[in-house]
Amino acid sequence: MMAEISKHLFDSICRDLHCSQIVHPWTKSCFDVWPILQFFIGSAKFYLVVHLVQNLLKGKKFKTREDVRRALEYYLRSTLLGALVCSTSVSGACFFRWLLGRRFNYYTYIFIPNMLNGLFILLEPPSRRGLVVNLFCNMVVEYWLRSLEHAGWIRITKLKMTLLFMLGSSLLFYLMRLEGEKTKRTPLLWLYTPEKVKHKEPGETPCPHSGPCSKYILKGTATYFSAGLAFTVVNLLRPLLKSPLTTLSSLSGKHLKLAMFLGSYIGIYRLIICWLCHKRGSDSAAHALPAGAIAGLSFLFKPSLGVAIAALSGAFKIFSTTLYEKKMITEKVDLPLMLYCLSQGTLFHARCMHPRACPSYVFNLIKSVSNGYVDLTYASIEEAIKRRVM
Ligand SMILES: [Zn+2]
Ligand SMILES: [Zn+2]
Repeated sequence: MMAEISKHLFDSICRDLHCSQIVHPWTKSCFDVWPILQFFIGSAKFYLVVHLVQNLLKGKKFKTREDVRRALEYYLRSTLLGALVCSTSVSGACFFRWLLGRRFNYYTYIFIPNMLNGLFILLEPPSRRGLVVNLFCNMVVEYWLRSLEHAGWIRITKLKMTLLFMLGSSLLFYLMRLEGEKTKRTPLLWLYTPEKVKHKEPGETPCPHSGPCSKYILKGTATYFSAGLAFTVVNLLRPLLKSPLTTLSSLSGKHLKLAMFLGSYIGIYRLIICWLCHKRGSDSAAHALPAGAIAGLSFLFKPSLGVAIAALSGAFKIFSTTLYEKKMITEKVDLPLMLYCLSQGTLFHARCMHPRACPSYVFNLIKSVSNGYVDLTYASIEEAIKRRVM
């Protein structure tokens, strides 16, 4: 059972330990290079999958030698990022212990080193950086909400998550349609990119799509329903290979949840857009406000806190782009970079000190990228505390 480690507990037990007891249990020396090789292997494996999937999703075609070279370069840069973050995460804890007169401090053990080495994110090209920053900020919000829930301040229910998602979806679709006119859109990963607002010529339909409305609505519903189904089937295939009979007998309605959510989400959105266009005789970005909100009801099929937060933060991201453009935030301040560093420190700290509230993706990420080595660090501090408390 993973325990919470409070500042008080840390100070009373870990402050005077040697770093080979709670930082690098695999060696006595602070200058052992063996784990660095492990970090490179872990990062190379992890980012190979990430880059392959991302290139596949984008439907990238490698036509010239230059395309291949660039893809390879990006992959190596990500691998270097992962290995550097892991290495400095370990050696940073040793360094600060040495700096503070051979004593640990609750915040210099994980939080500060992993906030500083967040700067390595600059290794990623700007196009990829934005999405990573987004992901990390979302996970910090999820971590805060879960912490508040554990402390008994709030209760996260299915209904509340759905309301959050409806609000996020409504604002997001509206801002995306407002932005549709611009040549450069804010890079954003979302389930669906809404059509641009149409300026009607006389004799045309007011809808933003071509062809009959029913075809447009049904096609969207069917495409997204099948995408959700395909995703679920792929996930089911893995255990199916191990034990085919038990997997097949456990198939039930709950496996349609993702497909139902995606299909109805897009279906309802398109239905309301078409209805409003016909009723008012022209298209407008504002139609996305009610359409996004009502379509958000589909979330009841498959609610998840992470996705609800992603909708709201996506809207916030487009909004902040507008603030930059209107010069309300100066470009001299690299706000995303600062947010990323803070998020990385917070999440690594949470992984060790408050594991119950930490999003599960952080566990997988740290474990894979460090090839299991940083997990040994976390296991060793738990062990040290257990030994003293028992
Ligand atoms: Zn050390
Ligand atoms: Zn229509």
